[in-house]
Amino acid sequence: MEPQRSPLLEVKGNIESKRPLVKAPSRLPLPGSRLKRGPDQMEDALEPKKKRTRGLGTATKFVMSHPRAPALTTVPQTQGQISAPKVPKKTGPRCSTAVATVLKNQKSGPAVPAQKPGTAAAPPKLGGKKPSKRPAWDLKGQLCDLNAELKCCREKTQTLDQENQQLRSQLREAQQQATALGIERRTLEGELARVQAQAEQSQQELGNLSTHVLELEERLGTQEGLVQELQKEQLGFQEERRRLATLLEEQERTLQASEAALSGSQAEVASLRREAAAQAALLAERGERLHGLEMERRRLHNQLQELKGNIRVFCRVRPVLPGEPTPPPGFLLFPSGPGGPSDPPTHLSLFRSDERRGTLSGAPAPPTRHDFSFDRIFPPGSGQDEVFEEIAMLVQSALDGYPVCIFAYGQTGSGKTFTMEGGPGADPQEEGLIPRALRHLFSVAQELSGQGWTYSFVASYVEIYNETVRDLLATGTRKAQGGECEIRRAGPGSEELTVTNARYVPVSCEKEVEALLYLARQNRAVARTAQNERSSRSHSVFQLQISGEHAGRGLQCGAPLNLVDLAGSERLDPGLALGPGERERLRETQAINSSLSTLGLVIMALSNKESHVPYRNSKLTYLLQNSLGGSAKMLMFVNISPLEENISESLNSLRFASKVNQCVIGTAQPNRK
Ligand code: ADP
Ligand code: MG
Repeated sequence: MEPQRSPLLEVKGNIESKRPLVKAPSRLPLPGSRLKRGPDQMEDALEPKKKRTRGLGTATKFVMSHPRAPALTTVPQTQGQISAPKVPKKTGPRCSTAVATVLKNQKSGPAVPAQKPGTAAAPPKLGGKKPSKRPAWDLKGQLCDLNAELKCCREKTQTLDQENQQLRSQLREAQQQATALGIERRTLEGELARVQAQAEQSQQELGNLSTHVLELEERLGTQEGLVQELQKEQLGFQEERRRLATLLEEQERTLQASEAALSGSQAEVASLRREAAAQAALLAERGERLHGLEMERRRLHNQLQELKGNIRVFCRVRPVLPGEPTPPPGFLLFPSGPGGPSDPPTHLSLFRSDERRGTLSGAPAPPTRHDFSFDRIFPPGSGQDEVFEEIAMLVQSALDGYPVCIFAYGQTGSGKTFTMEGGPGADPQEEGLIPRALRHLFSVAQELSGQGWTYSFVASYVEIYNETVRDLLATGTRKAQGGECEIRRAGPGSEELTVTNARYVPVSCEKEVEALLYLARQNRAVARTAQNERSSRSHSVFQLQISGEHAGRGLQCGAPLNLVDLAGSERLDPGLALGPGERERLRETQAINSSLSTLGLVIMALSNKESHVPYRNSKLTYLLQNSLGGSAKMLMFVNISPLEENISESLNSLRFASKVNQCVIGTAQPNRK
């Protein structure tokens, strides 16, 4: 398609291609080759006046030169010249040719030599005949010739006049044309100026338009880029739309399937609800029965514990450790019970050979046998799990609402801490009573939650050293201050005791208990470096306050479970010199002995149902007063070393434990609220 051109551009194009604005050829009858130029007449038309006037000038010159032509009389005429060519009546190029011919003829005139005046002119050639010279006497003939010649000249003059007339009229015409062309030229010049101005303006506009076009092209480029991006985006959206449509279809299918399944399920739910209602009724009935059975179990369990004794003593003999001297065979014996070897041992025989005693024959005296019997004896090979099995029942009693105290008594190194907390490593087989008891409590509490019981446990861990109480769970600034505490009544008139400034930490899982035991070990380790083997010289008391609630029946029960790692029961060797360190040690030992004997006395007083129980005589018994006596249950582990060298201390421990074992504390009552 051909682009549309603006009129302005067309004008400009015309100017540039120099197309003639005036197409009509000039009508000015100009001589010579100028008339043959044809289409270039525009150029001639626009030529300066001077150029044009030259042509006219020529014509004028011709007119003016005409009178100066030689006298007709002197011009020799030939026969041919007399019969001058006819001047065409038409104006234009032909006319000018005629003029030129005349001029030519005139110019060729001088070629004929002019006759001197007085000389007779040659007689004209008439009728093509060669004129014959008249004799001088033939005047008549000569006059006749002259008349003929005159006539001829007159005709010629007449012809020239006519030509002159014609040329004059042509000149006038040419002048008129020149005037008209001048006007036309001025008009055209005005038009040209206007067109040029217009062209300039158009040029300027064109320039502006070009700039604008460039800008638009640039914008177009940007827009095109944008359009491409948008197209790409659109493609992406279309793809996403298709994907979503597919997804929607899938979802709709799934929904339909789900709706179908739902209606099926609803019917099923209705039938299950009916079934559930029946089951709930059954469950309520069974729950009622179960609660009755649980109460019965608790009663019977307690009866069993009481039959076993509210104060029980277990003896545990630790194994010989690597590097220790092997005791002589038969040093310790564990005779079987009445039921034979399958019965757990309850008797222990210890043989002491006294070198000071001799026989009359001088032979060494036979070793003295010391027999002890306890509720249960654990020989060196007994594992921690075996030991825990025996006390699991007591832990159950604590859950049922009976205060429980478990002590580990014995000389330093006899295995008290091992029994209570466990071995030094992370071997689960060597886990002590405290972590095992807590795990058992958590699991039983979980089981009882099915019957509507909710249990919570709060732990504290303190040590009593030289009759001062220190928090083993202290952290931060309290730890830096030494964590010293005081035992106070929870409130005025309250039976409940609390350790001021000690941390009471709620626990609900084994991990939390492990973290607490670890913290206590850390705190003791710090103290150990500061004061030699202080851990053996202090009582460690782990207390767990158990609170149970049956919201449905409005029942509550709560009791403390105390796990006590007592200080080493060894006596100070009286033979030792009393240096400053030993004096300190003596003071420690006296404090320990005093508190241990107070514990014995308290148990004794409770057993004898004495009116005064000396709880206040030691911090330990004062702290544990609510867990001793009455409905409380007590278990004492007497830990002894298997080594012969420790026999004195072992005997002391066994004797103390035997005294405790003989005590019977009245029928225990659960702490029901
Ligand atoms: P105590 O606390 O009475 O001073 P420990 O519990 O620290 O005594 O025991 C002293 C050492 O004997 C420890 O190295 C301990 O691991 C080890 N030990 C104690 N009892 C046993 C046992 N039943 N089995 C194995 N090693 C034991
Ligand atoms: Mg210890």
